[in-house]
Amino acid sequence: MSATAVFGDALLDPETGDTARHAVVVVEDGRVSAAGARDGIRVPAGAEKVDAEGLTLLPGLIDCHVHLRSKGTGRDLGEWLATPPSLWVLQTVPAARKTLEAGFTTVRDAGGAPSGVRLAIERGIMPGPRTVLAVTALSQTGGHTDQHFACGADIGVKLPDVPETVVDGVEPMRRRVREVLRAGADWIKLCTSGGVLSPNDSPRHATLTIDEIRAACEEAAAQGRSVMAHAQATEGIKNALVGGVATIEHGIWLDDDCCELMLDGKRALVATLVAPLWVLRHAEAGRMPEWATAKARSAVEDHKRSFQRALEAGVTIAFGTDTGVGPHGSMGEEFLLMHQLGMDPLRCLQSATTVAARTIGYPGVGTLKPGDWGDLIGVRGDPLQNLELIAKPDNVKLVVKGGEVVKAA
Ligand SMILES: [Zn+2]
Repeated sequence: MSATAVFGDALLDPETGDTARHAVVVVEDGRVSAAGARDGIRVPAGAEKVDAEGLTLLPGLIDCHVHLRSKGTGRDLGEWLATPPSLWVLQTVPAARKTLEAGFTTVRDAGGAPSGVRLAIERGIMPGPRTVLAVTALSQTGGHTDQHFACGADIGVKLPDVPETVVDGVEPMRRRVREVLRAGADWIKLCTSGGVLSPNDSPRHATLTIDEIRAACEEAAAQGRSVMAHAQATEGIKNALVGGVATIEHGIWLDDDCCELMLDGKRALVATLVAPLWVLRHAEAGRMPEWATAKARSAVEDHKRSFQRALEAGVTIAFGTDTGVGPHGSMGEEFLLMHQLGMDPLRCLQSATTVAARTIGYPGVGTLKPGDWGDLIGVRGDPLQNLELIAKPDNVKLVVKGGEVVKAA
């Protein structure tokens, strides 16, 4: 048996916002065996002692929408054409490490990373967060993941264990979802509207029919999985919700009806507020095509208003960033954006811990109760007083995953 005891100044419970002083978290064989004030907690003899004096401990953070395969440095079509599929996969190696070192010990990959990435992390071949993944993102012909360009070239990345992204019709959708599940997907990702980083569509238009969406949701549910929808247009969001998806990604043009549909206790919004900002930053650096820049510019302010509408309506909001658009490790900025738009710090933290864990359906993450995974981070101060402490990777001084110290500053 391996045991680790992490001694910190305080332990913050994101469920309640309560803080225990002079805390210890004991992890045995990867799982928390005890956590709280040191008095009354027996530390097993022989446990590795981790000195985190001066730090507040809290559960590892969760990002519900990343793309580990994308570099996050903008879209350069020349570079894209010169990138072999194997290099796309290897790009997940630094991405996963930076994610973990920023304090994100669990992520949901929203498309692009094949299941071998999850296996490589699970088997200790590369460091990274616990990962659930969608493998790919399905869209209709001319939709968000159709990589045909005006010249006729299809520049989609071809990997042997990532099924084709473009699908049309109910029966083909059923078959494709089964193929994606066969390829090891934990989630099914659909694109029910156009998007920003796609050449042929508009984020204001719905894509896929309700029947296609419903068929995908049925097939996913039959094998115990749920569906996430890239959904920006109002009609695309509505179709996704009526069709049965669990999470709305981006949700740029949410109206009151969309919010109402999301209040049934089974849905969550993953807003990724930081993503369009990164598109504009890359554009400034000359690393973004003009068509994508124009679409991002037209979305930014409406995106903020939709977030506020959802917040006021009481919609469940789970933390997600679309990192891979922006650089890996930078996801914490989303906390600051959510806070600026009116979310209080405790809810911001919950969105990336308790709420995120429930949203992606990963047991034993987001809290540090006995039996949970021993995933925790340490910051110098109280993040509920200063969200910058979890927003900037350099401020995350300690990262422990499964009882193993992966970063200590
Ligand atoms: Zn995405």
